[in-house]
Amino acid sequence: MTAKIINGKEIAEQIRQELRTKIAALKARGITPGLAVVLVGEDPASQSYVRMKGRACEDLGLYSKTIVKPATTSEEELLTIIDSLNADPRINGILVQLPLPKHIDENKIILRIDPDKDVDGFHPINVGKMLIGEPGFLPCTPHGIQEMLMRSGNDPEGKHVVVVGRSNIVGKPVAAILVQKAKGANATVTIAHSRTRDLGSITRTGDIMVAAIGSPEFIKADMIKEGAVIIDVGSNRVSDPSAKRGYRWTGDVDFEAVKEKASAITPVPGGVGPMTIVMLMSNTVLSASRAHRQDI
Ligand code: NDP
Repeated sequence: MTAKIINGKEIAEQIRQELRTKIAALKARGITPGLAVVLVGEDPASQSYVRMKGRACEDLGLYSKTIVKPATTSEEELLTIIDSLNADPRINGILVQLPLPKHIDENKIILRIDPDKDVDGFHPINVGKMLIGEPGFLPCTPHGIQEMLMRSGNDPEGKHVVVVGRSNIVGKPVAAILVQKAKGANATVTIAHSRTRDLGSITRTGDIMVAAIGSPEFIKADMIKEGAVIIDVGSNRVSDPSAKRGYRWTGDVDFEAVKEKASAITPVPGGVGPMTIVMLMSNTVLSASRAHRQDI
């Protein structure tokens, strides 16, 4: 079996088209959704994510504000920036690019963001709403994974989903979303992690497997079920002297071998990555329509 490739770029483009219609409807009523992205420090990967988010806003005609501060910025200063964004009516979404420098308490920063502008879905209020199935903001990568499954004809309902990884930004929330008693969910979910014994015996039972580990090509063909749907969240930069830049991006799954056994698989790059950004845009538009009580 050679797996069907689940093309994240194409699915993200579909969602962008749907968003364009919603944005046009909001603009016709004088509303332009706005996103603020705050970057502290000079981490090159973070700089590149922030640039991509700014470009995505520009492409959709959203108002965007990027605030870049040096790594020496104090926690107090950052909290003051958050307060001013919370109060700014042009801003519907606030995203603080993580990780933050060590002297800043990430939890304290996330807690300060107005939950109604928390388009990353990391505020405990939104995490709680996600868990009990109330409308809030779903975190972008896990929500993007759910959209990818549904739009590629792989409804998780009744399936056994094995998630490898239990981070607060991917593993735990993707499990929480897919286990909901709701459309696009209703899965039986198992979460595995670094302390899981005999990982292969568990991953081989997954009709759908989500790999969010951060370890290049960790999931091998003998660790998956024949015909499984594989979602590779991993985004690992590995050195490659044959590549022009001297490196390439690879996922957590041994793509070449696994695609011969799976029924569907996401590539890296071009899989989950583009979905994360478009879901951020989607949350920003949702936030603007809620703030102005518009049903679009
Ligand atoms: P974390 O490092 O926070 O979490 C990794 C998880 O994998 C942990 O729960 C860890 O277990 C588990 N793990 C590590 N080693 C093993 C192992 N040998 N066996 C089983 N489980 C293991 O990473 P993130 O969740 O933040 O990210 C995961 C990957 O996804 C990264 O490559 C990241 O770059 C990528 N990513 C991609 C995004 C995108 O948009 N494409 C967005 C976010 C992340 P334990 O808890 O026990 O330590």
